[in-house]
Amino acid sequence: MLKDHLKTWLLWELFAGLRLTGKALFKRKVTVQYPEEKTPLSPRFRGLHALRRYPSGEERCIACKLCEAVCPAMCITIDSDERPDGTRRTTRYDIDLFKCIYCGFCEESCPVDAIVMTRHFEFHMEERSQAVIGKQRLLMNGDRLELQIADDRAQDAPYR
Ligand code: SF4
Ligand code: SF4
Repeated sequence: MLKDHLKTWLLWELFAGLRLTGKALFKRKVTVQYPEEKTPLSPRFRGLHALRRYPSGEERCIACKLCEAVCPAMCITIDSDERPDGTRRTTRYDIDLFKCIYCGFCEESCPVDAIVMTRHFEFHMEERSQAVIGKQRLLMNGDRLELQIADDRAQDAPYR
C-alpha cells in the first residue's frame, strides 16, 4: 500500500514511460511516410486482378472456369462461348472485389497464367456497382501492367 502511494506521489509511471520514450528516441525510425514513401512489395503481392494476353494480342484465358470453381468467396462469374475458329473464350468475366478475399487461389489454379494478381493496390470505388470489374477492365489492367506482371512471374518461376 505504502509502495503504491509512493509510486503515485513520485510520478513513477510517468518517468517509466518517459524512459521508454527516451530509449526509442535515438533508435532507427521505422515509420513510413505513406503515400510519399512506400515499402517494397513482393513479386507475389496480391493486389488488383488482371487478365493477360499473349504477345500476339490473343487473350490467354481459355474459359476453363477453374478459377471460378476454386474461388472460396464465389466472386468470379464466367460465361463462355465457342468462336467461329472452334476455340473457346469468355464472353463474360466478372470479379466482385467486395467479396474477394485476395487469397490468390484463382491465380494459382489458372493453367495458362491468364488471371493474375498485380502489385496495384491503390484503387477505390465510389459506387457499389463499381466493385464488380468486368472482362474489359481486367484486360486493360493486364495490358497496362504486363511488364511488371511478366517480371514478377519470371522472379517467382524458380519457386513454382
Ligand atoms: S483472390 Fe481468392 S477470393 Fe479473390 S477472386 Fe481469386 S480465388 Fe476468389
Ligand atoms: S482465367 Fe485461367 S483458370 Fe480462369 S477460366 Fe481463364 S484459363 Fe481458366
